[in-house]
Amino acid sequence: MDFFKLELEDLKSKGLFRSIKNIERIEGKYIYIEGKKYLDLSSSNYLGLRDDPRIKEEVKRAVDLYGFGSGASRLVCGTADVYMELEELLRTEKKQEAALFFNSGYDANLGVISCIMGKNDVIFCDKLNHASIYDGISLSGAKLVRYKHNDMEDLKKKLIKHRAGCEKAMIVSDTLFSMDGDLAKLKELVDLKEAHGALLMIDEAHAGGVLGENGMGLAELEGLLGKVDINMGTFSKAYGGQGAYICASKIIIEYLVNKTRSLIYTTAIPPAVAAGNLEAMKIARDESWRREKLLGLAAYLRDHLRNLGMDTMGTESQIIPVVCASNDKALELSQELYRRGILVPAIRKPTVTKPRLRVSLGALLDKEDIDFFVEELKEAIFKMDR
Ligand SMILES: *Cc1c(COP(=O)(O)O)cnc(C)c1O
Repeated sequence: MDFFKLELEDLKSKGLFRSIKNIERIEGKYIYIEGKKYLDLSSSNYLGLRDDPRIKEEVKRAVDLYGFGSGASRLVCGTADVYMELEELLRTEKKQEAALFFNSGYDANLGVISCIMGKNDVIFCDKLNHASIYDGISLSGAKLVRYKHNDMEDLKKKLIKHRAGCEKAMIVSDTLFSMDGDLAKLKELVDLKEAHGALLMIDEAHAGGVLGENGMGLAELEGLLGKVDINMGTFSKAYGGQGAYICASKIIIEYLVNKTRSLIYTTAIPPAVAAGNLEAMKIARDESWRREKLLGLAAYLRDHLRNLGMDTMGTESQIIPVVCASNDKALELSQELYRRGILVPAIRKPTVTKPRLRVSLGALLDKEDIDFFVEELKEAIFKMDR
């Protein structure tokens, strides 16, 4: 027991100890904690769909129809027709031959990368990719080559150096980076994967629902939907639901159905969740005002912060870092804003290299909320510096 205690005390002494806050209720852009109301600048509820009444109705309807749990793994008899409907919609919107639903983004990345790639292969991975991608790579046994964040020259050099000696190669990248809010250089990634005979896998977790005419992510925005080999995304962020998908060629999906352990050896999440995702995806596709408003608010806040001389790094999206001088400063600022009724997390080293507040916006916010946040932020910084 001493081991665990010592490790935890070490985290506490470094100011890195974390605990889980208990949310009582959510209501649009507000979250209630311990009886108090907070403006939510923390969750990935980008389109404000998490408590949409139409989605709630679909979920209830599905519970009545299918019951609560799915009963089994999808390969045994855990596939209600609603999963198929969801996959059909994904397949067509993503312009791929086939789609496959997973219980979570973590499951999808872990399972798919470790299933497709093996010890004779090489994976080129952006330094800032999501942890689930790294876990998938280490489980695969493939050689890991990390390239500098969004640095296409570095990637090219590394492809030249490491590609030849290996059987299969994969380039994998988030499309909208979850901590810096910047975007992958997708066109260049496509060119490089074609030039070097590699598979390209993208993770659209934060871009899905938000970017592109129908919310199909960065690949849609850039007109590159057909150029990506493995297109992954989640329902847990902008769609306000749970689960993830892989869109790819028919042959890759068939291979995954037969081989992916995180699909085969786990019970499918409830059909009602799939039904909620399906409704969320349709609403997100049809109500483009949500992403337009969201991206408008993001530009508005970015301009505000930059005019105040704050460092927001290279963000181009609804995820906006506000860089702080130290871990302690970031934490203190987050706590001060919490006291002022705003929920915005501090992200510290070693999770990121520059400690920061990580603001994530939602389509239910208004300009007045952004103004309120900026005012409170200014006052909080002023108070701390005194
Ligand atoms: C959140 C996230 C995941 C994991 O998705 P879950 O559905 O929460 O398991 C994977 N990749 C990226 C980039 C993410 O932001």
